[in-house]
Amino acid sequence: MDEYDVAVVGGGPVGGNVAKAIAEKKYKVAIFEQNKQIGEPLRCAGLVTPRVFDFLDFSKENIIQNKIRGAHIHSPSDNVLTIGGDKVHALVIDRPKFDKEIIKTAKNNGAEVFLENKVLSVQKIKNHIELTTSKKPDIKCDLLIGADGPYSQIRDRFGLPSPAEILRGIGAEITGTNLNPNFVEIFVGENIAPGFFAWIIPINKTGTEARVGLCIDQTAPHSPKHYFDNFFKNKPSESYLEKAGIKRRIGGSVPIGPIEKTYAPNILLVGDAASQVKPTSGGGIYSGLLCASLCSSIAIEALEKKNFTQQFLKRYHKRWSSEIGRELNIGIKFRKIFKKLTDNQFDKYIEKFQNPKITEIISKYGDIDYPSRLVTPLLKKTPSLLKLLPSIIKA
Ligand SMILES: Cc1cc2nc3c(=O)[nH]c(=O)nc-3n(C[C@H](O)[C@H](O)[C@H](O)COP(=O)(O)OP(=O)(O)OC[C@H]3O[C@@H](n4cnc5c(N)ncnc54)[C@H](O)[C@@H]3O)c2cc1C
Repeated sequence: MDEYDVAVVGGGPVGGNVAKAIAEKKYKVAIFEQNKQIGEPLRCAGLVTPRVFDFLDFSKENIIQNKIRGAHIHSPSDNVLTIGGDKVHALVIDRPKFDKEIIKTAKNNGAEVFLENKVLSVQKIKNHIELTTSKKPDIKCDLLIGADGPYSQIRDRFGLPSPAEILRGIGAEITGTNLNPNFVEIFVGENIAPGFFAWIIPINKTGTEARVGLCIDQTAPHSPKHYFDNFFKNKPSESYLEKAGIKRRIGGSVPIGPIEKTYAPNILLVGDAASQVKPTSGGGIYSGLLCASLCSSIAIEALEKKNFTQQFLKRYHKRWSSEIGRELNIGIKFRKIFKKLTDNQFDKYIEKFQNPKITEIISKYGDIDYPSRLVTPLLKKTPSLLKLLPSIIKA
């Protein structure tokens, strides 16, 4: 039986970064990834804030494809709200390269990476975990880290709670666009992306290539493909996509709603597996990497003390909850309001927000990772918005 201190299920950015930090302390770490190649197939739009790179040890220069300074938010009738434009608010990354670099740093620290190794079964035996994968029959470890994405098998196997929602996403990388390379285009509406939104993100500095996509919630009457096909034909998005040619497809799921327990004896869950995703944007790279750093530090403490009990591992849940739990829960509240808005209300509110006083505050305080930071300055400086609150809350 191959013995490891830690086995990480999932070679995504979060699993990779947890493994990197633990291997750095000279513990024996294995990463199991079911796919043939790290970062493939593509399941991401690749939009992150610059602070993502604070968690990483490699140069961002080869990873960044474009810099985003603002957003145009399109209502169903194409009222357009322009925010930002002043400074760099987000970076477009080459996600497969990004994932590969993370795994490379884990390997450089000594982690062993097993590709095309799907974890098939996991069992807790006394004070350790035994697992089998499609290629390696018997593995034993003290600590198992489930970084195995939205449909985490580790989460289900140990009876940990599931996310409140799982959104279905679809998209593509396209050529032949004529976009302002500094702005992302965001579209909302019942016929566009029910329960969430659609995006066009310029991925090069000339605006001729983009990542386009959308997510829908479980109540959507049609398939993701239906909305994606319509996105190329319908107003207000069609004008951006008239000459688009599809280069490669993107698909995937987004878990929404933090879960109440992310540990069990000898087990920690992290990243999408733990639904550590921002409910307002569906972005999980920043929040996942933040939680990865907390997960690896508790894992290292557990290894030092040889204590893998739930009482000890609970510290991880407490730490990430105190760092980011409040923000994720506020995001859920925003999302509840957002989901109830009708197309008419989107049209009305986007029109009302087209006021230089409001857009200036959004540009100054808006933060994709911490949307709640906008609320107080927005209400303080534009008390007139308070008048809208009752109707938004009622909605
Ligand atoms: C359409 C779409 C667009 C998105 N756009 C953005 C964006 O612009 N910005 C952003 O921040 N986030 C975005 N996200 C979310 C982001 O992709 C995730 O939050 C991020 O990938 C989470 O990383 P992770 O390592 O936790 O999980 P994942 O990246 O999902 O990695 C989990 C890995 O585990 C592997 N795995 C699963 N089960 C097993 C098993 N049994 N055995 C072995 N391996 C297994 C999987 O193959 C996978 O490689 C998007 C998601 C989707 C679907």
